[in-house]
Amino acid sequence: MRKKIQQLKNELTKALNASIHDDPDVLEKYAVDETSDLKGNPWLVVYAKSTQDVSITLNLCNKYTIPVIPRGAGTGVTGGAVPVSGGVVLSLEKMNKILEIDTENMIAVCEPGVITGQLQKEALQYGLMYPPDPASLDSCSLGGNVAEGAGGPRAVKYGTTKDYITGLEFVLTDGSIIQYGGKFIKNATGYNLTGILIGSEGTLAVITKIYCKLIPSPAHTLDMLIPFQSLHDAVQMVYTLLINRIRPAVLEFMEEDALTLAAQYLGQDMPHPQARAHLLIQLDGDSYQEIDQSLQTILSLGAVDPNTILVAQSPEQKERLWKARRCIREAIHAKSPVFLAEDCSVPRSKIVPFLTGVKQALTPYGLQSIMFGHAGDGNVHIDVLKNDMPYDEFKQLVPALKEIIYTEAYKFGGTITGEHGTGFIRKDALKKFASSQELSLYKRLKKAFDPNGILNPHKIIDLD
Ligand SMILES: Cc1cc2nc3c(=O)[nH]c(=O)nc-3n(C[C@H](O)[C@H](O)[C@H](O)COP(=O)(O)OP(=O)(O)OC[C@H]3O[C@@H](n4cnc5c(N)ncnc54)[C@H](O)[C@@H]3O)c2cc1C
Repeated sequence: MRKKIQQLKNELTKALNASIHDDPDVLEKYAVDETSDLKGNPWLVVYAKSTQDVSITLNLCNKYTIPVIPRGAGTGVTGGAVPVSGGVVLSLEKMNKILEIDTENMIAVCEPGVITGQLQKEALQYGLMYPPDPASLDSCSLGGNVAEGAGGPRAVKYGTTKDYITGLEFVLTDGSIIQYGGKFIKNATGYNLTGILIGSEGTLAVITKIYCKLIPSPAHTLDMLIPFQSLHDAVQMVYTLLINRIRPAVLEFMEEDALTLAAQYLGQDMPHPQARAHLLIQLDGDSYQEIDQSLQTILSLGAVDPNTILVAQSPEQKERLWKARRCIREAIHAKSPVFLAEDCSVPRSKIVPFLTGVKQALTPYGLQSIMFGHAGDGNVHIDVLKNDMPYDEFKQLVPALKEIIYTEAYKFGGTITGEHGTGFIRKDALKKFASSQELSLYKRLKKAFDPNGILNPHKIIDLD
């Protein structure tokens, strides 16, 4: 194998414009992503600078049947970019140009390494908005977002990454380059290849160019934090808002423990320490009147005490509210670097029975669980912390904990993951919960795109 890797390295060095590294410091960095407690073993790192670099790398790795692990910014939390069984990490981080903001067609054309938040800022310069907003938006890349089908708090009103991709350029394992879709919004030509690649987690092809739909940016936003006496009341409020024709841009819930942990992490006081749950709501619109009307409707519904609503009165206050929501994962990591992070999706109406069921089932284990997430679309985060439990004991429990959570999700008509993907850490669950027909179709799809099984092996599904 060592000889094969050396030969590959020599050929890559000759053929590529890209830089190639195998020094231990670099390899160490590319051995992990943001997944808790998972480390791989990269053999080489190639920093592609162009589609041609990607094409040559894939073609040569295919020739040597050496695994290739595409990588954006490495913020994935299910091990998608971790070279679990070795291989060449193909980093797209240097392909980071916004190639065009076409204001007439309201389309941005981007390389895959563009940081999501950067596209949002750039679009805003033209009065436009790229709505998908994963909480990691300041560090994750568009290529990673497409590969994961990433979502975010604004999904309740604006949808997720899949709703904003009108075209892709991608490279197959033999090095061939395909362009599908483009600057047009509607497309019924052939099979929906963007649809197949969105959420494919780097297992089918490497994405080298992305056409992103932009929309006019709302002129104003208003953010507020509302405390509730129970999770049930908070989730019921979501239904009440939507049925009363209020369409918040964001509807996030944080259970008591989640906000307490975030406040401790930030060294801030809790605005309502007695509350059992909070909703973080953002209203947006083109005029203050429109937003104010929605606010008045919320107050008139009688479901919340107007004295307890914390409305952000300044950009600083708004930032404080958002910081608390966005830092929950960091706060969990700071308290317990080893933790189980799940992000099941259930019908909105089943959030409360689902979470209650999970809490009850987890009680005998005596572990702390933190629950928060996207109340507007039913995608809920359940993190179970190791805290002081001995590492081996916790690791032994993990399969049982996952089984409990997924079983409850399926019981309520939901699924394993809403936005973080299957990756490496959930492929066993997929094997267990998906039907044999579904699994067989996944395998045939994988083989059609990647006959030699070199592209991100051991992610989503193992080939026989
Ligand atoms: C603090 C924090 C908050 C987060 N919040 C959210 C959230 O709100 N919503 C959400 O959906 N996710 C969230 N995530 C998870 C993560 O940020 C997303 O999955 C993101 O889309 C990953 O992007 P990335 O560039 O870091 O991809 P990476 O981690 O580098 O890769 C992710 C997957 O995509 C593949 N890939 C990357 N680039 C390409 C490419 N060009 N072609 C083909 N395959 C590719 C990789 O092989 C891998 O399987 C969060 C993560 C953290 C750490």
